Amino acid sequence: MKQRIRNFLLTLAFGLVVGAFGYSQLTARQHARDLAAARAEGRAAAEKALADEMAALKPVVLKPVASERPKADGTRFAYEYVKPKTPELEPFYALASKEDMLRQLPEIKAIDGLLVLPKPIKFVAAECREPDAFYSPERGEVVMCYETMKVLLERGEELTREHGLDEDHARRYLVANVRFIVLHETGHALIDLLDIPVTGREEDAVDQLATTLMLRFAGKDESSGAVAENLRMASNWFLVRSTGAYNLDAYADEHALGEQRYFNLQCLLYGSDPVRYVGLVADGTLPEARAKMCPAEAHRVSKAWLRLLLPHVAPKYEMTEEKANQAFERRQRERNRDAEVPYVR
Ligand SMILES: [Zn+2]
Repeated sequence: MKQRIRNFLLTLAFGLVVGAFGYSQLTARQHARDLAAARAEGRAAAEKALADEMAALKPVVLKPVASERPKADGTRFAYEYVKPKTPELEPFYALASKEDMLRQLPEIKAIDGLLVLPKPIKFVAAECREPDAFYSPERGEVVMCYETMKVLLERGEELTREHGLDEDHARRYLVANVRFIVLHETGHALIDLLDIPVTGREEDAVDQLATTLMLRFAGKDESSGAVAENLRMASNWFLVRSTGAYNLDAYADEHALGEQRYFNLQCLLYGSDPVRYVGLVADGTLPEARAKMCPAEAHRVSKAWLRLLLPHVAPKYEMTEEKANQAFERRQRERNRDAEVPYVR
């Protein structure tokens, strides 16, 4: 009996141990299953989250943004013609406002809306009390004074009388000079607004910009001869204001001497197309020693301004240096083709 009881107890004890073992094994298996399930669930959740994320991203990744949003346009300029108080300036107000002269300058037309600026440039024609033209950084204005227009017209009339030129010459002289002066001041405005780096004299840099713009962006209907005539009338103005005798103030001035500005402009004109403008060297307008350097100088100046302004061209135009040069060359070819005769002085 004792033996049976002992066997029972042993069996029970063994059973309990096995049972306990079996239980723990069962628990471990269950745990592993739970863990796998949890992992699977976690993975599924993570996969779903990723899929959701991808789905959310898809419209952005797959749809080209460019085609949906129009690319940014450039900054448009503003224009104003202020009525003068002095009666003798009235005709210049009438001339400028009637023709919307500042807006219609071909080079201004070409760059109006081309560049992205921190604020618009306003082109103003106004009475200033003395002949002048300037850029006002505070007001963001390029101002052409009626007094300057008056002096320019008088000079044009003088030249017409002296050289027996055609009737329209004085008006062309006025417009060509307004054009150059406004572009010169626009250069100051661009340097200020776009924080364009300039080494050397800013006055030289903006003369170069004005000349380059008049060579590159002249109207399609203007022949090479007309472009050259405009630039030569602009350079004539430098000589008119020069006395030829200078004091220290003139040498110290921020502007180069009138004669130097004159030759710098001739150099860029000749250098832009040496074959067409060879007459400038032949007749002694541009000394040969300087002329030799001019094709390289004209190319350098044009390239420098193009590279300085390209980063500010509105994205809409997708402009590159190559595309810009191709456009310039195309325009040059059209102009040369349209020219009735090669330029003769
Ligand atoms: Zn200046």
